[in-house]
Amino acid sequence: MQETKITLSEKEIPRQWYNIMADMPNLPKPPLHPATQQPIKPEDLTPIFPMALIEQEVSSQRWIDIPEDVLDIYTLWRPSPLFRARRLEKMLGTPARIYYKYEGVSPAGSHKPNTAVPQAYYNKQAGIKRIATETGAGQWGSSMALAGCMFGLEVTVYMVKVSFNQKPYRRMAMETWGATVHPSPSTVTNSGRKILEVDPENQGSLGIAISEAVEDAATRSDTNYALGSVLNHVVLHQTVVGQEAKKQLALVDDYPDIVIACCGGGSNFGGIAFPFVADKIAGKQLRAIAVEPSSCPTLTKGDFRYDFGDTAGLTPLMMQYTLGHDFMPPGIHAGGLRYHGDSSLVSQLYHDGIIEAKSYGQTSCFEAALMFAKSEAIIPAPESSHAIRAAIDEALLAKEEGKEKTILFCLSGHGYLDLAAYDDYLNGKLSDFEYPDELIRESLSRLPKID
Ligand SMILES: *Cc1c(COP(=O)(O)O)cnc(C)c1O
Repeated sequence: MQETKITLSEKEIPRQWYNIMADMPNLPKPPLHPATQQPIKPEDLTPIFPMALIEQEVSSQRWIDIPEDVLDIYTLWRPSPLFRARRLEKMLGTPARIYYKYEGVSPAGSHKPNTAVPQAYYNKQAGIKRIATETGAGQWGSSMALAGCMFGLEVTVYMVKVSFNQKPYRRMAMETWGATVHPSPSTVTNSGRKILEVDPENQGSLGIAISEAVEDAATRSDTNYALGSVLNHVVLHQTVVGQEAKKQLALVDDYPDIVIACCGGGSNFGGIAFPFVADKIAGKQLRAIAVEPSSCPTLTKGDFRYDFGDTAGLTPLMMQYTLGHDFMPPGIHAGGLRYHGDSSLVSQLYHDGIIEAKSYGQTSCFEAALMFAKSEAIIPAPESSHAIRAAIDEALLAKEEGKEKTILFCLSGHGYLDLAAYDDYLNGKLSDFEYPDELIRESLSRLPKID
């Protein structure tokens, strides 16, 4: 019998996170203070982050120990399984070997608890009582609610209003784990009230929700902020995914030619890809592809420059590929991929030609998601379907070329709380949206000019 699931024992959960900053040929330019536009100092960040995370944010140490208390919670769902997608391979008639690392086994259904748990831990250690954060469709908010619950922290979540109204199930999950959830823009913060004064019907965006959460955290001494993607320490925590996948592939004597993941802020991509990209930097042949929606084409159509992380311009300026911090992405179903910017690490590696990027419209992603669900049985998160689309295309190319290739992708989450999106697709209600170049230029023209 051939193996379908390649599993590791709990003893084999990685004990350290891998920090790619130790190996990158060029490090990203430093984050700048939003007011002075000078490089930020660690103490500028202490009003919203614990020192342990600030240290990880700037560390160039290759391996960083995972605390025992974090490992203990990781055992609830880690190591996550690596699947060989035999049924999908057969459906495609490809000579390629397709593997997927399934992060939907976490209690929140995505990779996000891999970082929510250590973030809650370090905040607890620092004596923080409460976390304020934002969420789009609810994946990050529910992961933070879960992690806060594990460590006895209060969690307040600003949830993008359109999702708050249309996608109630993750709000219910957050509340079940004890969190308080506000629709954003809310009347609870100055940034929220300001937006509602001008536009009472505003449906919110991730950028606005971040402004609200940062303001909440900065104005209360018992409260810190937590971000679910983009920042270096977040990507660092996600590297447990790629490290496990490497061990699992070694068990079946394989190694990827291509590593693929969807890319919103870049954390699941960095998480699965960076441990392999380390080998590439050391000389190994490998392609790593970040896949984004064509309605929010940050890497493929954005500019590489300094931009804020939020709409109001409260966060530090980070060097990144960006569509402009006031970019309003259309309401596609892959809510987790609707962010104007990207991780500085992913951006720098893309700029240096070490990784690749690709974009797809949502209908071709849902088509891929259905092929996956009908062959491999798991219903994927709409975000993950972008990785599946790219993996299928690479497998079909391998078929055309008659090449045996090894393709690894990250199935970043399941779609069981996103079934309404499948309902829309099945009833022909989804359309593709290419974000017009003029609008991207317009949004970028409003960015601060920094030499
Ligand atoms: C949030 C999310 C993403 C996108 O975030 P990244 O930081 O780019 O990984 C992808 N997939 C799922 C299931 C998510 O919840």
